[in-house]
Amino acid sequence: CGIIGHVGDGNALETLITGLENLEYRGYDSAGVAVQNGSGIKIQKRSGKVEELKSAIDSSTLSGEIGIGHTRWSTHGPPTDANAHPHTDGTEDVAVVHNGIIENYAELKEWLRAKGYEFTSDTDTEVIPHLIQYYLDSGMDSENAFRTAIEELEGSYAVTAMVSDEHVLYAARKGSPLVVGVEDDEFFLASDVPAFLEYTDSVVYLEDGDVVVVDNDGIEFTDLAGNPIRREPETVEWDP
Ligand code: GLU
Repeated sequence: CGIIGHVGDGNALETLITGLENLEYRGYDSAGVAVQNGSGIKIQKRSGKVEELKSAIDSSTLSGEIGIGHTRWSTHGPPTDANAHPHTDGTEDVAVVHNGIIENYAELKEWLRAKGYEFTSDTDTEVIPHLIQYYLDSGMDSENAFRTAIEELEGSYAVTAMVSDEHVLYAARKGSPLVVGVEDDEFFLASDVPAFLEYTDSVVYLEDGDVVVVDNDGIEFTDLAGNPIRREPETVEWDP
């Protein structure tokens, strides 16, 4: 339902929580965040309101400069803590948030299970971190693993992912909105502009088939095959 991501010098957690609160108007049943803190990915997620997520968070372990957050509107699996996003590959090497519906998740799940990947949720989303892990395990670098996993998906998605100990966010969209916010060397990803309007009004609207790689040095825009594309930021005026 709602996605927020942050890459920059400040602490990601505050930006993520603000983003989730700004996205509350969309309606949701669960919320969660994942932050890179230099020693892997730390996750906190809960069914219920962002307020409940906030009271569950220990900010000393969830600090870091890069992170992702999600508010969930369940389509596959009830609103439980386990079904809340971010989802991982099981070891918290890969964390993913997703809006939309993966139509071919049942086949992908069966295929991944047969290869020994273990699932801990009822969601369609959980196939995505396991697919990324599968391609990492086959020797691909993270960007190729992300791209190849996305190519396997049928249905609608806005996806944002991170891989342990990399200062990078990967994102892609098809049939579900995703925007990038830019403020000097600070970058935001969101399903909707109001998520980060406190921080920037400079926005790049992504199109279906776009893949973005965001790190501290900037944003790379490509198509699914990896060919560079041009996307320019525009200044938005937003009347809340
Ligand atoms: N289909 C996913 C789920 O049920 C994502 C739903 C959403 O867009 O929030 O977890």
